Formats: sequence, structure tokens, C-alpha cells
Amino acid sequence: MGGGEIPAAIDYLRRIHRESAYVPPYDKPVTNRVNKRRLYTTVHTMMRAEAGSQELRISRLKPNTHWGALWRNLHDTPVPQREKVEWYKVIHDIIPTHDRLNRIRLAPSNKCQTCSEPDTIAHRILDCGNGRRIRQWTKERLAQILNTTPDQIPDEWPACPQYIIRPQRRNRDTSWMLATLITCRMNTPPTTTLQDYIEILKRSR
Ligand SMILES: [Zn+2]
Repeated sequence: MGGGEIPAAIDYLRRIHRESAYVPPYDKPVTNRVNKRRLYTTVHTMMRAEAGSQELRISRLKPNTHWGALWRNLHDTPVPQREKVEWYKVIHDIIPTHDRLNRIRLAPSNKCQTCSEPDTIAHRILDCGNGRRIRQWTKERLAQILNTTPDQIPDEWPACPQYIIRPQRRNRDTSWMLATLITCRMNTPPTTTLQDYIEILKRSR
């Protein structure tokens, strides 16, 4: 997608332009010619999207992802539907973090309200508050499940669960653990302790 006449440097404008192409302007009347052009651009964009020549935004953000494995893992995870939805949102990077809101000028700063690090999804899940401790503990448990060492467990897995693990039971245990990590980190304050997290895990088993 070329983005038309909007320069690449102001990517957020291109994004708004792309996502709002079919919303008619409300601030001032437009000429027929402008309206036709808008409609044409919209239909063209939608047809290209349908034809698959325009990738999903997330595919462009994560170009080397094994999407088949990722969707299978999300689908097969033994957690309630609402937790899968939460995980889906994390994978798609559609959580309104301050980093994301700031990029489209809807927040004055990209800083986390708790610790002033940049408020990204990775920050919320892995770092903020007791995140590092919880992350390390989770890696140690996963290493036990997978017969490996904690440093072999990628930090990307929570936001990009593209692993294929045999046997399937281990794959499901891994997904269950990661999905519960997401649920805990996205729905409880960053100050939630490791003990609280372990309790949440026990209850969801
Ligand atoms: Zn923080």
C-alpha cells in the first residue's frame, strides 16, 4: 500500500487515512469529484485487501511469524473464550497503550503511568511492577515443562505464540501458562505479586 500523497514520515496520518477511507467527512461539504475519488480509493483498497495483496497490518509488523502455528495455539489453548480474546488483542497489538495512543496523538506522552518507562504491550506483560520476577518464574516453569533452560524460552512468546511443541500436551500446557500470564498481567495492577500470580494459575488449572 503506497499511502498516496501522504509522506511516509507521518505514518500515523497514513494509518488514519487508510482506516477511515470509507467514513464520509463531516466537517465540510466535498465536491462530487473529491467524493468519487474517495469512494474509488476505498473500494480499491477493500478489493486489494480481499484479494490478499494487502497484508493485514499485524502481518506487516511481524513479518517472520509462523501464523499457522500461532492461530492453532490460540485456538487450542485450554482457557475460557474471554481469555483467548484478550490474548488475540495482545497478539494484534490493539491494546490502547500510551505508546500506541501517543503515536496517533491521543495521549500527550508514551510513558507508563506507573513507572514512566515507555508503555508498550511488552512492557505491561513482561516488565512493569513485578513483571520481571513473574516473567522469570514463568520461564522457569516453562523450562521444566519443555525440558530446557529458562534462557531458551523466548520473551516474544506471550505476544507471538508461534511455537510447535511435541507432544501436543506440552504445547497445550505452554499455551495455558502464557494465556494465564497475559490474563493476569493485563487485568490486575502491575504491583500484583508473584504469589498472587501463582494463586491465579492454581485457580485456572
Ligand atoms: Zn510501567
